[in-house]
Amino acid sequence: MNVRSYVKDTWFEAREGFVDVCSAVDGRVVARVSSNGIDFTAVLDHARTGGGPALRRLTFHERADMIKRLALYLNDRKQRLYELSYDTGATAKDAFVDVDGGIMTLFSFASKARRELPNARVALDGAIEPLSKAGTFAGRHILTPLQGVAVHINAYNFPCWGMLEKLAPAIIAGVPVIEKPATPSAYVAQALFEEIVASEIFPKGSIQFVAGSLGDMLDHLNGQDAVSFTGSRSTSVALQEKPAIVLNAVRFVAERDSLNAAILGPDSGPGTPEFDLFVKEIVREVTTKAGQRCTCIRRAVVPVAWIDDVERALVSRLERVVVGNPRSEGVTMGALVSTAQRDDVRARIAELQREAAVVYGDPAHVEAVGADDTAGAFMSPVVLRCDRPLEADRVHSVEAFGPVTTIMPYQSIDDAVAIANRGEGSLVASVFGYDARSVDEIVLGIAPFHGRVLVVDRDCAKEQTGHGSPLAPLVHGGPGRAGGGEEMGGVRGIFHYMQRTAVQGSPGRIATISGQWNPGAKERVLARHPFEIAFEDLQPGDTFYTPAREVTLEDVEHFARFTGDAFYAHMDDAAAKASPFFDGRVAHGYLVLSFAAGLFVRPELGPVLANYGLEGLRFLQPVYPGDTMHVRLAVKEKAPRKPEYGEVRWSVTIFNQNDVVVAQYDLLTMNATQAHVPVLRAPAGV
Ligand code: NAP
Repeated sequence: MNVRSYVKDTWFEAREGFVDVCSAVDGRVVARVSSNGIDFTAVLDHARTGGGPALRRLTFHERADMIKRLALYLNDRKQRLYELSYDTGATAKDAFVDVDGGIMTLFSFASKARRELPNARVALDGAIEPLSKAGTFAGRHILTPLQGVAVHINAYNFPCWGMLEKLAPAIIAGVPVIEKPATPSAYVAQALFEEIVASEIFPKGSIQFVAGSLGDMLDHLNGQDAVSFTGSRSTSVALQEKPAIVLNAVRFVAERDSLNAAILGPDSGPGTPEFDLFVKEIVREVTTKAGQRCTCIRRAVVPVAWIDDVERALVSRLERVVVGNPRSEGVTMGALVSTAQRDDVRARIAELQREAAVVYGDPAHVEAVGADDTAGAFMSPVVLRCDRPLEADRVHSVEAFGPVTTIMPYQSIDDAVAIANRGEGSLVASVFGYDARSVDEIVLGIAPFHGRVLVVDRDCAKEQTGHGSPLAPLVHGGPGRAGGGEEMGGVRGIFHYMQRTAVQGSPGRIATISGQWNPGAKERVLARHPFEIAFEDLQPGDTFYTPAREVTLEDVEHFARFTGDAFYAHMDDAAAKASPFFDGRVAHGYLVLSFAAGLFVRPELGPVLANYGLEGLRFLQPVYPGDTMHVRLAVKEKAPRKPEYGEVRWSVTIFNQNDVVVAQYDLLTMNATQAHVPVLRAPAGV
């Protein structure tokens, strides 16, 4: 099978320059990869002039919907990916992590974007900042999509997840993608990409796929482009140093080698649940994907008193691992991706052996079930032990990207922290312990060196997702040698493909640019109450002023009796005066809020379906008995949720008789669309 590329909305098949890719299981050639003949400047141009503008015409929600539709589409078409993955050495369980994990990542990005980003083309970061005394000049950070292309360079170990975790945030941001899979698993990536193309979800020019070399593409990148790389540190450095990338300050985010640590807490000896969880997790990490995981536990850091127990427990579990053909019944660990990779891992183990001794597994030999172990890239899990980790270097810097881990003892918590941090920055570390004092100290000690820290104990044991499972809403990436600390997960991962710009101007101008109404911007004072208006017809800036009402001492006392809130500031004049904040008894903040609702709420059945919360509530001035209050209710922003309804964010401002703001907050309601405004039905039989 010749692996094809997809460029300029057409499948391209090279005629020469092929690299053979062999099955990890039996060594037969399963694919040939080449990108010879592709015009890379034309590929970039197609994305920049076609895909980019098409994506930027859509809102965040529309782009997130495309990602969700893709997830649903792929969910029904996984089997072929599973079949092909066997030849990369992956078991069905490994393929699940790759394929299903990738699809779950799409779902997660799509729903996060819909929840946290507006249904608009501009994203906002932070609130409006007043920049003048009279309030006629303000500033706000906006984020807009880069107008270039996102080049995604992926590692071989997760051809599906690796591609999808990058594609989703870029597309949601509004930036077209060029996906470049690693050659050893490019045939799986191509099968996935065929499905993406067949889904016909994405606009022309927004998705391209280059199997094989990227030729001179990276030499033509500029400051509107972004590269997201996953792979080894050496490749990442070579690419980051390319003149065009340096000169044009091309955004370059890297996920790369990581010597992740797992630490057993000082109070978690044999017999504790945390000890068992620790040992189990190491075995899971070392055997899943035959240890070819960026998150794999490379260093198991153990209290010196229990290092022998940990070694024995690990050996006893690893003896049950069945290495072999991933298609064969009972096999629990497959092969490395290629014999070349296995040779590389063996060479790295030899380096590690200068500081550590092999205590389990023969790096040179394994009996592989259902396979000819000379043709396939099989290898035994290997455990090394380094008794002086603080005097060692290689165990903290040499990554054997296979089923390999090193156990090492620590004497004190400070030592445990120092050992973990010798990795010079990792994607993830996990801490197994139940003693709050020591666990907290370890976590705070290692946090600056890690993108993610997982704490496992008996309380979360059943539901925790494991050392190796970054979840899309959270940070994926790490500082230092792991890449540099830029994160790929969550909304920040989407922002990586956008420019954050500080816009300064009048509050009115900032409101129109940002798409969100803010105080000081133009108000459209409505003749009708906004609660009578269906979702589509409300617009940011639509405003309603309520009549005024007095707050009496009787109201305050009634409220205190009714709710039981008899706090001294409301009930005892002398005590209230003793507070630095009050001149005497004040109305409850909750009473003021309730009266505000009483002033603006419409009792009749109508488009407002539910109030689902307040945000940013501040009581800014006391309300004294005898004061009069009125409310301004303004539509700040709205976001469609379902065909039947959408979310309206209202800016609520409560004033006193002197027009001084006494309280403000955002109110969130769900409002029906025109066709779904509820109506009273006649009782049956009438
Ligand atoms: P790699 O050899 O560094 O390759 C990574 C990617 O870079 C591949 O797609 C490769 O393509 C491409 N590449 C190599 N030279 C290039 C060039 N001159 N121009 C453009 N692209 C180029 O890494 P790998 O062997 O695939 O993956 C294993 C490594 O990845 C391990 O070190 C592991 O720690 C790391 N990794 C890290 C993470 C993470 O999240 N931190 C995740 C997974 C893997 P070709 O295959 O076509 O050469």
